[in-house]
Amino acid sequence: MFDYLKNPVFEQTREGIRRFIAEELMPMEHELALGSEDAWPKEVLQRVWRRSAELGFYASCLPPALGGKGFSVLEQCALKADLAASGSALAPHVLGDLGGPPRVGNMLKYATPQQLARYFEPVIRGEKSTCFALTEPQSGSDAQSITTTAVQDGDELVINGVKHYISGAPFADFAIVMCVTDASATPPAITAVLVDLDLPGVTVSQRYVPMSGQHIDADIEFVNVRVPSANVFGGLGNGFKLGMSRINVNRLLHCPTMLGLATSAYEASLDYARTRRQFGAPIARFQAIQHMLADMASALWACESMIAQTAMLADAGGDLRMKAAACKLFVSERCFEIADKAVQIHGNVGVTRHHPIEQTFRKLRMFRIFTGTSEIQRNTIARAILDTAGASA
Ligand SMILES: Cc1cc2nc3c(=O)[nH]c(=O)nc-3n(C[C@H](O)[C@H](O)[C@H](O)COP(=O)(O)OP(=O)(O)OC[C@H]3O[C@@H](n4cnc5c(N)ncnc54)[C@H](O)[C@@H]3O)c2cc1C
Repeated sequence: MFDYLKNPVFEQTREGIRRFIAEELMPMEHELALGSEDAWPKEVLQRVWRRSAELGFYASCLPPALGGKGFSVLEQCALKADLAASGSALAPHVLGDLGGPPRVGNMLKYATPQQLARYFEPVIRGEKSTCFALTEPQSGSDAQSITTTAVQDGDELVINGVKHYISGAPFADFAIVMCVTDASATPPAITAVLVDLDLPGVTVSQRYVPMSGQHIDADIEFVNVRVPSANVFGGLGNGFKLGMSRINVNRLLHCPTMLGLATSAYEASLDYARTRRQFGAPIARFQAIQHMLADMASALWACESMIAQTAMLADAGGDLRMKAAACKLFVSERCFEIADKAVQIHGNVGVTRHHPIEQTFRKLRMFRIFTGTSEIQRNTIARAILDTAGASA
């Protein structure tokens, strides 16, 4: 995937990450007998974050001024696709997808010097972990309907509410919490607030495990949690804008992960089709199987091309709103179809609990829900198309 990228620093990093996975992470997973469906102790994850930072991978996607390598969005896509295809349970932690710099993404530019020093620089060094908390039990797609409040009291804000299904919360040190700061405004004013998760009144509960089997999501409850007003992130009332500024690139950056997962399912299907014999011949001899493989290869090429085009648009500073939504919609639906065909080609092996194909099928299904469901992506695309045509109503 993305084999045409030739920037020497990037190529070196890409090769370094491959070696890190093969020589350090996979042996660690083997030694600890832990896989992607186990709850990893935070101390082990911290070791991985710090080691990845020490090797120069963890924050590599940030600009050099923040300690990164300034990789383009396209280069970030290539690294993420490689990681997802690697089959390593710790792969999402190499670039910090579940609590490191990408969780903050381009919101980092809104941090004050004090917030950078206290919160974000430790995240960049792999010493602290964060999560982004917007969704609530009654507020999913309709994100503006959140009811968690942050009320000014002297020099402090008092936070009350519940955040739901927050990735990275089980091992996060602090959360970027979206709170209503003026319910009387239309729409209500929403503000991002940095909240340490060890404060009195904060409870992080892992009440569920998503179908991927990963223990990475939790609810966070805030009861009269007091934080200094200086923890307002990005300005009072700017929270929704801040969250939305992150969402387009985020939607795009989920796509290479799906591509990597689907590519590994396709490659396993090719191997299986060549070696599994029925009716005296490899099943790859049956045209029905060949057609499935042909459809998978074509869809992968379409996804990779679409991701590359959208990433190049992001790198050129173009308007991503419609195209990132289209990319996430298309890639999530095609990659899920690829996983479905992989299950079909693998027969009973593919429906066996914890087989890599069955795990990939479950993982890929989830991408049609988070960072905006497929229906919400279609709404965004339709709005953009109708706006462009001057026909918004
Ligand atoms: C694994 C996982 C990780 C997540 N991580 C985070 C995180 O880190 N931070 C965070 O804040 N949130 C996170 N979420 C929450 C996620 O963003 C929401 O689940 C998502 O926005 C959808 O909300 P919902 O599940 O409440 O579904 P709902 O909004 O209740 O939607 C239910 C159904 O109705 C449809 N629907 C709703 N509104 C419309 C509409 N206007 N038009 C057409 N159809 C509509 C939806 O498409 C869906 O099919 C995560 C979720 C999951 C599953």
